[in-house]
Amino acid sequence: MTNFNDFGLAEPILRALTEENYSTPTPIQAQTIPFALQGRDIIGIAQTGTGKTASFALPILNHITKMRMRPAQKSARVLVLSPTRELSGQIADSFRAYGRHIRPLAVELAIGGVPINRQARGMARGAEVLVATPGRLLDLVNQRAVNLQQVEILVLDEADRMLDMGFIRDIRKVVAMLPKQRQTLFFSATMPGEIAKLAGEMLNDPASVSVTPESTTVERITQSVILTDRASKPGLLVDVLKAETIDRVLVFTRTKHGADKVVKQLEKSGFASAAIHGNKSQNQRERVLGQFRDGSLRILIATDIAARGIDVDGISHVVNYDLPNIPESYVHRIGRTARAGRDGVAISFCDHEENAFLRDIERTIRIKIPSTDKRTGGVRQAAEPAGHHHANGRHRGRGGNGQNRGHQGNGHRNGQGHGHGGQGRSEQPQRANGNHNGGSHKGNHQNGGQHHGNRQPAAVAGTGQGKDIGGMKFMQRGPSRPRSHAPR
Ligand code: AMP
Repeated sequence: MTNFNDFGLAEPILRALTEENYSTPTPIQAQTIPFALQGRDIIGIAQTGTGKTASFALPILNHITKMRMRPAQKSARVLVLSPTRELSGQIADSFRAYGRHIRPLAVELAIGGVPINRQARGMARGAEVLVATPGRLLDLVNQRAVNLQQVEILVLDEADRMLDMGFIRDIRKVVAMLPKQRQTLFFSATMPGEIAKLAGEMLNDPASVSVTPESTTVERITQSVILTDRASKPGLLVDVLKAETIDRVLVFTRTKHGADKVVKQLEKSGFASAAIHGNKSQNQRERVLGQFRDGSLRILIATDIAARGIDVDGISHVVNYDLPNIPESYVHRIGRTARAGRDGVAISFCDHEENAFLRDIERTIRIKIPSTDKRTGGVRQAAEPAGHHHANGRHRGRGGNGQNRGHQGNGHRNGQGHGHGGQGRSEQPQRANGNHNGGSHKGNHQNGGQHHGNRQPAAVAGTGQGKDIGGMKFMQRGPSRPRSHAPR
């Protein structure tokens, strides 16, 4: 499909798309919309940024216009579950934008962080579309402010993040309240076993669609690590902010408290920044995000959870002030930069206690991240046991400015095995059976052989195999290091 007119969407929707200046469907839209219009269940592997929202919103709006009926009180005809407030807000906005010529069209939001009573009132007369985070939705159901028995279409968005955030039980509870007879559209950026299992329980003869994102591939992100002491991190961040040419930087901390602390430390050094995390009110978060988007705020400090669902273009830098203990979070974090075809820089601070996290991250992404050693001597000794003979160059202490750019490995840009923008796959019919592993190619990671002294960040392509995390493809280096010889 090269044109939205080819789908047979209703005229008010086509008019809205013209106004939005959408001329060509994205690959996920081209694949998903025809199946969804047929009423099929969908299992879709796609990340934010691929046009996924419209891929479900357009056929849903089409269903609403073709089958007009007044929603029952407290009921929604369509339920969209999403992991975060921000993403939920963006989804609701998309429904409103694409549905602006469909009247009446009630799109309600049920998210935490804002007063529940207003949401209960909003649902009193029923809604065509309810976009919700699982926890708040269950609260509303328990208060009898929402009734889920009239739901005709369920969308589960970013299922893998739901899993990360511990929402899977809530989702099962919600699904148990829905009519069995319904259409379900299920989207996830990756398909780990638990998610495939959930899909298997929820979906009925789903059509499988999948795309690899066009832009956010790791080869355009220059990654580096600065080995440091914990106490030096505040000063190091200031150094990095001074040394780098930054359009917008997203700084990740592990905790909410840590985020606030960084804001204060930066303020002392004359840098204006703001933090977003779960303790901030929805208004504060939206105001700060708005400033970050419009460029009036250049430095945003966030925790992993708060950063989910933020879709801001033009983030030139990601700084991991603290390394995440979950390797996949690293991938999600650095994927905030290098969007929309631009380059990006990801700099990670790694203190002594985070060495194990770095090791896990490098094992997961199968890339050795170039590092600069800025630790004091004592800690360095402690970090590397005597007799460790691994000539990995990590501790050579390149010194310098905390940047370690331009370490693009040979083979890094040859494109082999990388996701090529939007070349998707579409199969039908296919039952979710746990085999949807998100295009993840399991590399033969334990195949022996060593790469002593290899300082290239890039996996050496050539095997055509890579690991796909969060829609980003990481090439396997070959031959890889056995675990026992991991550098730290
Ligand atoms: P999403 O993956 O749904 O978050 O969409 C990413 C961005 O792409 C959003 O800003 C959409 O407004 C935009 N978008 C979605 N579909 C199209 C399209 N067919 N043409 C142009 N822009 C689009």
